[in-house]
Amino acid sequence: MSLEPAVYEGSCLCGQVKVRVTGPPTRAGFCHCQTCRAWHAAPVNAFAAWPSKAVEVTQGEELLANYKSRRSNRHWCRECGSGMLNRVRGEWTVVYAMVLVDSGYVHQADCHIHCDEAVLDLHDGIPKFTGWPGSEPMEEPPQTRIRPAAS
Ligand SMILES: [Zn+2]
Ligand SMILES: [Zn+2]
Repeated sequence: MSLEPAVYEGSCLCGQVKVRVTGPPTRAGFCHCQTCRAWHAAPVNAFAAWPSKAVEVTQGEELLANYKSRRSNRHWCRECGSGMLNRVRGEWTVVYAMVLVDSGYVHQADCHIHCDEAVLDLHDGIPKFTGWPGSEPMEEPPQTRIRPAAS
């Protein structure tokens, strides 16, 4: 058995930006917050967070553009538009799970976060929180559906 930590590498759509992570993520889940939904143009964001030292942009760093919002500092490839990562705070870096999924990375989600902002109810048995993991838990929805955001 190898004691080397797993390494996963992913790239953007055009292939000019490459990201490598070493070891398993500290946290993997689905974020339902409004800013993730808007930025990804998706009902939910599959995220995985690593200590920043475990994440390396191995190619094309100069092509990364970024946008800061209240919780996030999102980076994408300015050539093809692919979302790549989110330098949340100094010590944590989120790499969007879909960037890595072709390299053998398995997204073993253990939480849904910011469910108080959700439009996609998922009936999947994974713990759901109003905010970050460990915040107020939310009830499992009775069915999977997309609905209007609570106002
Ligand atoms: Zn690209
Ligand atoms: Zn979010």
